[in-house]
Amino acid sequence: MRMFFVALAGIILTNNLTAQNLPNPTGGNNALTNLTCDFGPRNVAGASKFHKGLDYGVGGLYGSANAVEGGAIDLYRENDANNSYIGVGNFRYRHVHVGTIADANGNIIWDYRINSAPNYQLLIIREVRNGVLTTANVYVNGTYVDPQGKPSTTYNDLLTNMTVALRQIATQGDLIFKARAYPSGPHLHLERVNTRENPLSFMSRTNANDPTINLSLKHNSSNVATEFTGDIIYGNVIVETEENTDPACDFDNLQLQVNCNGQTVKSFSYSYTGANQMFYAAGANNRNGLSNIAEHNILFALTDEQEIREATGIGIYPIRHVQSHNFFKYGFNSEQTIATSTLARGFQYPDGQYTIRVIGTDVGTPARSTTRELIRIIDNLRPYIHSRQPKDI
Ligand SMILES: [Zn+2]
Repeated sequence: MRMFFVALAGIILTNNLTAQNLPNPTGGNNALTNLTCDFGPRNVAGASKFHKGLDYGVGGLYGSANAVEGGAIDLYRENDANNSYIGVGNFRYRHVHVGTIADANGNIIWDYRINSAPNYQLLIIREVRNGVLTTANVYVNGTYVDPQGKPSTTYNDLLTNMTVALRQIATQGDLIFKARAYPSGPHLHLERVNTRENPLSFMSRTNANDPTINLSLKHNSSNVATEFTGDIIYGNVIVETEENTDPACDFDNLQLQVNCNGQTVKSFSYSYTGANQMFYAAGANNRNGLSNIAEHNILFALTDEQEIREATGIGIYPIRHVQSHNFFKYGFNSEQTIATSTLARGFQYPDGQYTIRVIGTDVGTPARSTTRELIRIIDNLRPYIHSRQPKDI
């Protein structure tokens, strides 16, 4: 058993090391250059609530991107043209232009064809070399049938008078993407084929900053989340965490632990990636980014930070149009009762000293973490003393 563990650790380490060197599809020194929207929950009008990839600016309509890794090519076969993509290996490049693009001199330098009968797709890429239009690459999915009706593994390009071998494999760095006129603006959406992994965790990135994590404990006071003053907390405690990884994008996980006398009495995590990540794999919920864990389930769409700080709803609050800066509100009910409790009123969490700790972690190898904790006294009966009216005395 010990040998197995050692071997497994070795494999994971090796994969991580080799997986961290992928370049930025749009150029730049690291994967953060040109990044406009990161992976995870977001608050963008008209867009999915859980963003399952990275958005990159590519310089406008027909802007280019290159393959971050080589692999088998997968040309778009969906009906929704706005979600058109080209896949290479484990990555997809979404919102690609389908059809032709001409350069300033009228040369057709991009020709992405989806042919239904017979069923094949071609991506023809040309470039001007020394003043001569040249066929650079022709990729294929399915069986290409030439104008004479014969299946062929080569393409006879009449525009360049060249015959080239059709490729089913792209190489790292190949030009693979030109941005279409997407409704919210042309851009590259880069995602893993499984949509469950953050592409940034595979790409070279500058990661010199730990996540910023703030922790505060609040109660609902006339529908305004209000911070407890002093060391005593009670009732429905709103555990509010603010995380901010900008500009070192990208956040990945928030763990919450409530300890009493050194024992963990409650633990919980919000995960953007991995086995327990926040969204379902399929169905309508997928688009909304809803979780299979009830306490994760609400993504709020408030606009500004003050509104968010005062909000009492339990869930996640991405700031509108801001990436890598989210608030989490978790409900910890100190008065929660259980039938097996031997304490007065059946409290699950007896009076005493508690440590509330949050650990925020970003993606990357090594991942960087920040821990914040508060030590407070739970006094479950306190709210009842507080609410006594003068007439009772
Ligand atoms: Zn996107």
